[in-house]
Amino acid sequence: MMTESAPASANIALVSQKLQQSQQAYQQLEVRYKQEAAALYKLINKLSLACKGQNIELDNKLALLRGHLTENLSIEKANKLLLSIDQLLNSHTSHVEKQLSYTRDQFQTSGKNLQQWRGLPPQLRRDLRSLIDSSGKVEQSVYDFLPHLQKLVELYNHAYDAAGSGDTAAPQQVRELKREFSDELLALMTEVEFDNEANTRLKQLKQKVGLANDIDELLSYCIELIKLLVESVQQERKSSEAFLNHLNEALSTVYGAVTQTLQNSQLLTEQSREVNSALKTQIEKLGAEVDAANDLDLLKEKVRLHLQEIASALEKRERLAEQEQSLNELLMAMQNRIDTLEEDAKSYRSRLNEQRQQLYLDSLTQLPNRAAFNERLEIEYQRWKRYGGDLSIAVLDLDHFKNINDTYGHIAGDKTLQVIAKLLGKTVRKTDFICRFGGEEFVLILPEQTAESATQPMNKLRIAVSKLPFKFKGQNVTVTVSIGLATFNKGENTETVFERADQALYAAKESGRNQLVIK
Ligand code: GH3
Ligand code: MG
Ligand code: MG
Repeated sequence: MMTESAPASANIALVSQKLQQSQQAYQQLEVRYKQEAAALYKLINKLSLACKGQNIELDNKLALLRGHLTENLSIEKANKLLLSIDQLLNSHTSHVEKQLSYTRDQFQTSGKNLQQWRGLPPQLRRDLRSLIDSSGKVEQSVYDFLPHLQKLVELYNHAYDAAGSGDTAAPQQVRELKREFSDELLALMTEVEFDNEANTRLKQLKQKVGLANDIDELLSYCIELIKLLVESVQQERKSSEAFLNHLNEALSTVYGAVTQTLQNSQLLTEQSREVNSALKTQIEKLGAEVDAANDLDLLKEKVRLHLQEIASALEKRERLAEQEQSLNELLMAMQNRIDTLEEDAKSYRSRLNEQRQQLYLDSLTQLPNRAAFNERLEIEYQRWKRYGGDLSIAVLDLDHFKNINDTYGHIAGDKTLQVIAKLLGKTVRKTDFICRFGGEEFVLILPEQTAESATQPMNKLRIAVSKLPFKFKGQNVTVTVSIGLATFNKGENTETVFERADQALYAAKESGRNQLVIK
C-alpha cells in the first residue's frame, strides 16, 4: 500500500502545483488582459473624440460607446452598438468621398475661372497654372485640399488687388467698363457748351476724365459735371432774366416817352393853330381898321392894341417853338435808347449763335465736328501716353464725290453724306470716336486698336459703304470710300500720326480708290 500511496500523493502534489501555476498564470493573464483592455478603451475613447464633429449621429453613438466602455458593459450590448457604428462609418466614408470629389471639382472650376481673367499679372498666372496642375492627384481627404484652397484664395486676393490698383495688369473687364464710362461721359460733355469761365472748367474736366484712373474718380467727375451744369443753367437764367428786365424797362420808358410826345405834339399843333389863327385875326382886323379909319388918334390906339395882341401871339409862338425843340430832343433821346436796345439784342443774338456754332456737332450729319475731334484726339493722346496700349487714326474720304454733286445736285450730295455718316456712326465700336472732319471727309479715332486689329473692321466699313443702295434720278449709284490708317508709335505726336494717315489716304486714292492703306 505504501508503495502505491506514495506515488499517488506525489501525483496530487504535482497536480496541485500545476493548478497553482495555472492559477498564477491565469491571474497574470487577467492582469494583462485588463491592462490591454484599458489601453484599448483609452484608444477607442481618444479615436472617438478625434472623430467628433463629422456626423452628429456618429457622435452620439460614440459617446454611448465611451460610456459603456467605462461602465464594463456586456459584450453583447457593445457588439450591437459596434455594428451600428460600423454602418454609420461606412456611409460616412462614402459621404466623405463625395465631398472630396465635389471639393476637387469646385477647386478646378474656381481655378479655371480665375485663369480666364484677361490681364492677370504674369507671375500670378504661372502660380495659378502650377497650383491647378499639382492638385487633384494625391489628395485622400478634404483636409488634404485645405492648403490648395488656401493658396487659391490667396491668388484670388492678389488678382483682386491687381484689379483694384488700376495698373496695366487690371482685368480686362474692369478696364473696359472704365473706358465705356469715361467715353459716355466725354460724349455727354461734347453736347454741352458754356460761357467763358465754365467752359474752361469743362475743358479741364474733359482732360481729367480722359486720364481718370478708376470708376470712383470718374464718378466724382460726373458729379462735378452735374454741378457745372446746374451752375451754368442758373447763370444763363440770371443773365436772360437781366436782359429781359433791361428790355422791359427800356420798352416801358420808350412807351411812356412816345405817349407823352404824342400828347405834347397834339397840344403843340393845336396851340400853334390857335396862335396862327389869332395872329391872322389880329392882322385882318388891323387891315380892316386901317381901311375904315377916319380918326388918326383913334387909329393909333387901335393899332397899338392890335400890335400888343400880335406881340403876345408871337411870344406864344416862340414858346411853342421852344417846346417843339425840347420835344425833338426827347425824340432824339428816344431814338438813342432804341438804338442801344437794338445793339443789345444783336449782341445777345450773336452770343447765342456763337454758342450754337461752338457746339461740337456737325449740323448736316449730326456727327461730332472737327473741333470735337481735335479735343478728343488730345484726350486720347494723353491717355495713350500715360497708360500705353494702342491708338490708331483712320481718315476716310469719299471717292469722286464731286461727281455726285455735279451729276445729281448738291441736295443729293448732302443726302448721301447724311446716309453715309449714319452708317459710319452705327458701325464703329462704342469706344471709337468718329467725326465729320469737313466736306466729304470723316476721321476715326480707334483706341486700343493696332493696324492689324483695325484692318478687318475698316475693310468691313469700306465694303458697307460701297453696298449702300443709293438711287438718284432713277439710277442706282454706288459710292465708295478710301481709307488711310496710321497707328501711334512710341514718342510720336498727334500731328505726325495724322500726317501719316493722310499720306496713307493719298496712297489709297492713287492705287485706285475704294481701298484701305496703312502707313
Ligand atoms: P477724290 O476721290 O479724289 O476724293 O474726289 P472728290 O471729288 O471726292 O474730291 P474733291 O476734293 O475734288 O471734291 C470734294 C467734293 O465734295 C467737293 C464738293 O462738291 C463736295 N462736298 C464737300 N462738302 C460737301 C457738302 O457739305 N455737301 C455736298 N453736297 N457736297 C460736298
Ligand atoms: Mg476730300
Ligand atoms: Mg473725296
